[in-house]
Amino acid sequence: MPVQRVKCPTCQREIDWAQSPFRPFCSERCRLIDLGAWLTEKHAIPGEPAPDELGQGNPGVQDSDTPPQRRPS
Ligand SMILES: [Zn+2]
Repeated sequence: MPVQRVKCPTCQREIDWAQSPFRPFCSERCRLIDLGAWLTEKHAIPGEPAPDELGQGNPGVQDSDTPPQRRPS
């Protein structure tokens, strides 16, 4: 059975898929880094819309994979 190698999304280091308990990351540290980046970029303030986005009224800025959920005022 060939060894399946994947690149860690955080540091691009090649890892052995079957041997890494933190796959697809090379280590717990990289996993936490990626998780932290994801939280920072996508969910800066969970459950609370950013004041800047509300004030500018520019829907083109929104990410396509995260549809805005705003209540009509
Ligand atoms: Zn890594």
